Amino acid sequence: MQRDALAPKYVRDFQCTGSKCPDNCCHSWNVGVDPETLRGYRTNPALIPIMQEKLVDNNDLATKEASPAYIKLNPATNKCSLQEASGLCKLQKDFGEAALCVTCDNYPRSYKILGEDLTVTLSDSCPEAARLLISDPNAMELEFAPLTLSSKPQAYQIAEAEHYAERYQLLQALITLLRYREISLEMRLFIAGLLVQRAQTLLEEGSDTSMQDLCNLFFELIGQGYFQQQAKELQKTNDGALGLVILNVLVKENPQQSAFREELQAALKGLNIKGRKPAGQEQLDKLQQAWKKHLKPFYKKHSTGLENLIVNWLIRDFFPIQSKNLYDGWANILARYLLLRTLMSGIALQQKTFEKKDLIRLSYRFGRGVTHSQLLNKLMLELTGQNLKSNTAFARALQIG
Ligand code: SF4
Repeated sequence: MQRDALAPKYVRDFQCTGSKCPDNCCHSWNVGVDPETLRGYRTNPALIPIMQEKLVDNNDLATKEASPAYIKLNPATNKCSLQEASGLCKLQKDFGEAALCVTCDNYPRSYKILGEDLTVTLSDSCPEAARLLISDPNAMELEFAPLTLSSKPQAYQIAEAEHYAERYQLLQALITLLRYREISLEMRLFIAGLLVQRAQTLLEEGSDTSMQDLCNLFFELIGQGYFQQQAKELQKTNDGALGLVILNVLVKENPQQSAFREELQAALKGLNIKGRKPAGQEQLDKLQQAWKKHLKPFYKKHSTGLENLIVNWLIRDFFPIQSKNLYDGWANILARYLLLRTLMSGIALQQKTFEKKDLIRLSYRFGRGVTHSQLLNKLMLELTGQNLKSNTAFARALQIG
């Protein structure tokens, strides 16, 4: 099925690698089956013998309506019980894509409708999507053009929030800013935080300045190097408080996803964190060491990959449009980025190197780990509780310059 859609280049380039996938999506999580597909599984004579043993009722009242049943996992392997030894899905192999439930059909695509326009992004929890995002500097080039959709696209309508036009202008400005490669990625993130904070005040209190004027002013100031000095001053007073909160949230984490657990354990080992012992100055020093020795050189060559991941989070979440509180939405994105960077640092120390392939592997495993856990929510609660969910605290933790 083809339809005009706003989609980044990497969505148009994406092709599921199927049995060649290094870590397919058919394990470690329960696939919820939508009501219409479930009816087919229970009434189609060709499907009944295959599916009757593979389904389990969903008794969770919160999700039962959307997914009345789950596909069973094989308890011995933790893989989907429909997956064959070859890695192929029995349903897809014997009956084609149309037999898949909406979850399997759509993954890793995310369909959202804004106004009348369909927007499509991919989840970076898919290894092929992560590979495209990290390898192709132009992966996030947006284009409105015909796109082949999956068989049963399930699109979510984005509600048009108050100040919709201003929020849309801010989204466009943030995408442009985050892709402005003349300054470091960390500097762009710092400036984006300041812009979001000013935009929040503008929406709450009103002003003679329009959102467009505010965005234009920021671009003028970037051109004049206005933010450099401000960033330098904040870096001088970095007391490591936010870094410690991130480290200690990671120390307490016990991920369900085995691949993510592997990355976390490697990172904690690299940072010399043993057991549940809280992190301290030694670990903050190690983060600095990892930045200078491994990440800084890595960013020089591959920061477009990280930039693409962040812009993808922004568009996937329609951040300034969907977030009631702009600053909270932005803090969530920055916290997610800093969590990822902390893991990168630990892994770089553990491996004594950090390359593009490591970021691809880490980012899809991180995507799965964050999606299927409360990790990010726990971090946001800690930051709020310790009064660290502020531009100043984030700016101190970013490696600007
Ligand atoms: S994780 Fe991505 S590439 Fe791998 S099987 Fe699933 S959709 Fe295909």
